[in-house]
Amino acid sequence: MADTTLMDKLVSLCKRRGFVFQSSEIYGGLGSVWDYGPLGVELKKNVKDRWWRAMVHARDDIEGIDAAILMHARVWEASGHVAGFTDPLVDCRQCKNRFRADDPRIKGTPGQPDAQCPVCGSKGTLTEPRLFNLMFKTFMGPVEEQAAVVYLRPETAQGIYVNYLNVLQSSRQKIPFGIAQIGKAFRNEITPGNFIFRTREFEQMEMQFFVKPGTDAEWFERWREWRMQWHHELGLDPTRLRWHQHGPDELAHYARAAFDVQYEFPFGWQEIEGIHNRGDFDLGRHQEYSGKKLDYFEQATNERFIPYIVETSAGADRVTLTLLVDAYREEEVDGETRVVLGFHPAVAPIKAGVFPLVKKDGMPEVATSLYRDLKRRFPSFYDDSGAIGRRYRRMDEAGTPFGITVDGETTSGRTVTVRHRDSMQQERVSLDQVADYIAERV
Ligand code: ATP
Repeated sequence: MADTTLMDKLVSLCKRRGFVFQSSEIYGGLGSVWDYGPLGVELKKNVKDRWWRAMVHARDDIEGIDAAILMHARVWEASGHVAGFTDPLVDCRQCKNRFRADDPRIKGTPGQPDAQCPVCGSKGTLTEPRLFNLMFKTFMGPVEEQAAVVYLRPETAQGIYVNYLNVLQSSRQKIPFGIAQIGKAFRNEITPGNFIFRTREFEQMEMQFFVKPGTDAEWFERWREWRMQWHHELGLDPTRLRWHQHGPDELAHYARAAFDVQYEFPFGWQEIEGIHNRGDFDLGRHQEYSGKKLDYFEQATNERFIPYIVETSAGADRVTLTLLVDAYREEEVDGETRVVLGFHPAVAPIKAGVFPLVKKDGMPEVATSLYRDLKRRFPSFYDDSGAIGRRYRRMDEAGTPFGITVDGETTSGRTVTVRHRDSMQQERVSLDQVADYIAERV
């Protein structure tokens, strides 16, 4: 299967089965903005829930917050986003298309007569590169005046830094400790694309860990290890995960070290999470811009310092795409192609499908009652239409790990058939125990 074909198939499966739809589709769609459908919202929610459990609930040294998307405009001056969060762009005066100045398709130097537009082919129509800020701007209050400009946050991290003191004081944590947050971020990306990989509205799962200077390198290594393990535990193919270390030209000027977790997508190895040793840059800048003291007093040693920060920053949508790509497979079964999303049962949107073999002999009644029981414990789906093989296939495409069939033996012997999505093997399980049987495996 050619790799572009795989993405096309995945996008079409996502639409057909209700994972992901294009935003405002009936109006022709909105560029690089996507909506999650009934299955997609469950899948992405499972990603976020697993992250929250691992980062907040399972640990004593991390607190969660949920900060607002709109923040004081000075935050983005302190963070460097107003000055530095820019891409150089060129416009074609002829066809009105806009490109990144470093677009490899541009021949010649933009702004010069020899430069050629990669779309309409005109010569000398490309403007000089101009800086374009990636932050979405809006206005707060009734008058659209400069004083009231606010930005939609381009990352969630700043909501954590500005609440560092509030959380420290209210939670009675001591350094080292972390603050975690999941939330929307917005970037007016110039070259968005690859489905939900790079979008203009997306969700981040970020954690900032505050440490004593000098212990940062050690914490950085620990966090690298823990985060990679988390991706493995999602069930992703370990041979498609690797580290990419930022070289000197990629590293932000304040960063002490940065590694990306990369996944091998059909369009190449790409970042899904970044782990950064940010030094004292963030709290230092907020102290400077806000005038509020943000240093930490360590009682044990009588020392005062601005904590260093180790950041882990993952995209919920990128991880969701990773799960979809990793899970997608096609198999030949009895001369037919079967499409399977082989999710780890813990992330699968629906855990069990319940099917009465036929719509008579008391089977629908038993199946409905079983379905009601299961649905109280985990997402389940009832399907009584079409041949049983077709019902299994529909569940394979949705990534449902277990199919439960109520048949003639259920009414006489009180057992059901449990059919496993990946092996297609079937086994008989007692009707009374099937809910526990599945709960244990999801
Ligand atoms: P990229 O180089 O891919 O644009 P980045 O280095 O700018 O990413 P960060 O600012 O480190 O990304 O953001 C952390 C994480 O947030 C990324 O690893 C990614 O998972 C997610 N993310 C960033 N930008 C987007 C986007 N436009 N769409 C979806 N997810 C994103």
